[in-house]
Amino acid sequence: MRVISSAEVFAHALDTERACGRSVGLVPTMGALHAGHLSLIERAARECDVVAVTVFVNPLQFGDSSDLANYPRMLDADVQLAGSAGAQLVFAPEVEEMYPGHPEPPSTSVHVSGVSEGLEGASRPGHFDGVATVVAKLFSVAGRCRAYFGEKDFQQLAVVRTLVRDLCLPVEIVACPTVREVDGLAMSSRNVRLSPDERDAAAALHRSLEAGLSALRRGERDLDVIRRLMRIELSSSPMLEPDYVEVVDARTLRAPSVVDGELRLLVAARVGPVRLIDNDGIVIESYEFETPVRDIVSVAAADAHSTGDRKER
Ligand code: AMP
Repeated sequence: MRVISSAEVFAHALDTERACGRSVGLVPTMGALHAGHLSLIERAARECDVVAVTVFVNPLQFGDSSDLANYPRMLDADVQLAGSAGAQLVFAPEVEEMYPGHPEPPSTSVHVSGVSEGLEGASRPGHFDGVATVVAKLFSVAGRCRAYFGEKDFQQLAVVRTLVRDLCLPVEIVACPTVREVDGLAMSSRNVRLSPDERDAAAALHRSLEAGLSALRRGERDLDVIRRLMRIELSSSPMLEPDYVEVVDARTLRAPSVVDGELRLLVAARVGPVRLIDNDGIVIESYEFETPVRDIVSVAAADAHSTGDRKER
């Protein structure tokens, strides 16, 4: 395992791998690695010849300075875990390496409009500019690669996909499913900051998603009803302070014009000292619950035909 703190050395290391014909998998993280991160690294190791994990707590994406100060940092353990999951390189730069003028904000930053608005974008102003800027920098240093991101941060995934498309970056984005604890709580580096009681209460985020999904599966199509059911579950513990519950079109992240196709349910809530998010998806195929128009027409035609037949006899 090689741990690199210089962007120039990291870029050179990956250039050398590609020059030898090896494909590169990149797993950007903020460290405090858990099984969710490891699932990304393991997948990258299955699909690429060389895997590089980046560990960088990006100050630009934190609006709340106490969240930044209290974000868990444990590089030695991260290096160990990344290696055991199949990574060969860890890029762990200091803040000044990524932002030479720090604490002055960089002169150049990246803003992705559209998918970054609403949801986390509305609750955390500036957050996705920070994400897009650091991801653009990491991609620029790493060069041509496949980059692995978790669906756990669904809106971030959409922002990164848009960034890559709009800037023609030579990166293929690979989305990986959310890894959960036994009670459904999505794994997160922030979970270590929860007390045992808060940890138990946090499972309500997943129950809220389940409430919405099961109502949709039963055929409920009124989004106000779905959101109300989700909010009831999210408000079930006084330890939770709900932020939003939303149902959106998975592609646009906007309210769907019809309840059809691929939908994403998303929730956010504050639990004790931390803010947690979660999401899950469902594909609604309208004919599952309704008789298609063409079937109604053909049944009616068949009825008319058989009635006519009887009249003729
Ligand atoms: P973070 O360190 O929180 O910035 O996350 C780094 C990457 O790991 C992001 O692409 C996250 O979406 C992903 N990730 C975080 N938690 C999970 C999880 N529970 N399951 C799958 N991926 C995750």
